[in-house]
Amino acid sequence: MQIVNVDIQYLSPPPAIKYCKKCGKKTEYVCSGLFRVNAQRKYLDIWLIYKCSNCDSTWNMTIYSRINPKSIASEILEGFHSNNGELVEKYAMDTELIQNVNVNQNVDHSAHQKIDHHGKNQSTRRVGNFFMITIFECSV
Ligand SMILES: [Zn+2]
Repeated sequence: MQIVNVDIQYLSPPPAIKYCKKCGKKTEYVCSGLFRVNAQRKYLDIWLIYKCSNCDSTWNMTIYSRINPKSIASEILEGFHSNNGELVEKYAMDTELIQNVNVNQNVDHSAHQKIDHHGKNQSTRRVGNFFMITIFECSV
């Protein structure tokens, strides 16, 4: 019996597949790495901005809607204001959040399809622009 362990690392956040009005078709929206914070009276709206890879139209993915700023830790809030890279990654990788806003991500499928199981004991390869896959094989 052969056991194959696969480790998938992201090289950059996966794109969101979304209908672009300007392009008139579904395109890849790429994470811009920027948050947008909008104050509405006492509340905040926070989005992560994506851009159509074809025409640069932007799409704001809602992270928080009408949230009381006091309910967010101040260092997190500061991270939204300063476009903190780790925070961007946290939300850009949150496929559950992205799915909740009705976007398809072509994440796991493409990765799994392209794995070659007949490789060597360990091999690392790049899949597209978004994944690095390391395959470890252990025979039992
Ligand atoms: Zn577009």
